[in-house]
Amino acid sequence: MQNLTVLGSTGSIGTSTLDVVARHPDKYRIVALTANRQVDLLFQQCSQFKPDYAVLLDEASVKKLRALLREAGLKTEVLCGVDALEQVSVLPEVDAVMAAIVGAAGLRPTLAAARAGKKILLANKETLVMAGNVFMDAIRISGSALLPIDSEHNAIFQALPRGYDGNMTGAGVRRILLTASGGPFRNTRLADLENVTPEQACAHPNWVMGRKISVDSASMMNKGLEVIEAHWLFNASADDIQVVIHPQSVIHSLVEYVDGSVLAQLGNPDMRTPIAYGLAYPERIASGVAALDLFKVATLSFVAPDFERFPCLGLAYQALRTAGTAPAILNAANEIAVAAFLDKRIAFLAIPRVISAVLDTLPVCSVTGLDDVLCADAQARRAADIEITKIIN
Ligand code: NAD
Ligand code: MG
Repeated sequence: MQNLTVLGSTGSIGTSTLDVVARHPDKYRIVALTANRQVDLLFQQCSQFKPDYAVLLDEASVKKLRALLREAGLKTEVLCGVDALEQVSVLPEVDAVMAAIVGAAGLRPTLAAARAGKKILLANKETLVMAGNVFMDAIRISGSALLPIDSEHNAIFQALPRGYDGNMTGAGVRRILLTASGGPFRNTRLADLENVTPEQACAHPNWVMGRKISVDSASMMNKGLEVIEAHWLFNASADDIQVVIHPQSVIHSLVEYVDGSVLAQLGNPDMRTPIAYGLAYPERIASGVAALDLFKVATLSFVAPDFERFPCLGLAYQALRTAGTAPAILNAANEIAVAAFLDKRIAFLAIPRVISAVLDTLPVCSVTGLDDVLCADAQARRAADIEITKIIN
């Protein structure tokens, strides 16, 4: 029996995780579930999975959930606030933590779980983008198992030799091919991109996801963050990672070896596959995902990314090459810009402008610990707010 904490259980990855868990009650027990403020869904999840703990971020939501649980005769203890997220990630009875909070908010509890030696199922890519060296050091020191849940990284993990230790040359790997769907605006006329709405940006052709990552997919910042994520997970340099636009989202990524072999992982675009893989590793369990019908897929196509159409991708490569706090600055500026776009305060094409201006304004420091990262994150948020104010006025 594996005891799990699911951080961000009410989100897209969180609900898919619980869907897989529900198929295997003999294998997994939920110790804790957490959400920002989605009380009703968290209550439903508590009724179904009967966790020992539930966490919400504000007192009003906590009170509401406690009342609902009392009425239903359920014994889940409800905790409040960011410290509680860390608390439920390091409990001695917890074996594995699904890190599925969106954005920088996921960093502290995910890092705490890594330091406590928990098996980490990592969906929160922002943890690696912001604090890759701090997080990977924590994993090495504690000996935690780290399973990438992001579909591309899960695919690469599957296509690399078992026990890959970060030595690409030693493993005979030439490069990593990171696939991207190209998002909803792959073929939109450039002139029309200025006026796209949050609803259009969130209508992803292949995947159903949270709103922040959906906008990131539309701008291709998601792929940029994933390049940085791949750098840390697989010890690959920016030059070792090639982004490949593959609109069908059937090949989830590939590894090219020096002998000319290219290994890929394929499947329907459904996050329950990488989640089930992470949960059961090194075994395989049913995930509820339909079998891939190659005859229905029929065609797989590939094109090179267009860096002019998607400036965010270039900005992410640039931040990775600059290193230090640059990726944390990129990530924070992106979060602020995406939130402003979702609030209809700035246009879609202003997102890369804000990030680029922030990267140009702020000094980059080396990262010696978490404080350097949090300081750069806070500075970049302030700088992004200033850039947004300039754009609006
Ligand atoms: P989502 O918006 O659907 O869900 C986010 C979850 O985090 C919710 O449970 C929410 O309550 C919680 N949350 C939000 N803000 C919080 C805060 N400040 N503090 C604590 N909890 C908070 O997001 P998602 O699409 O499930 O994505 C989650 C993470 O997984 C992201 O980092 C994303 O990049 C990554 N990811 C998602 C997908 C996908 O298919 N959805 C694929 C790959 C990677
Ligand atoms: Mg992905």
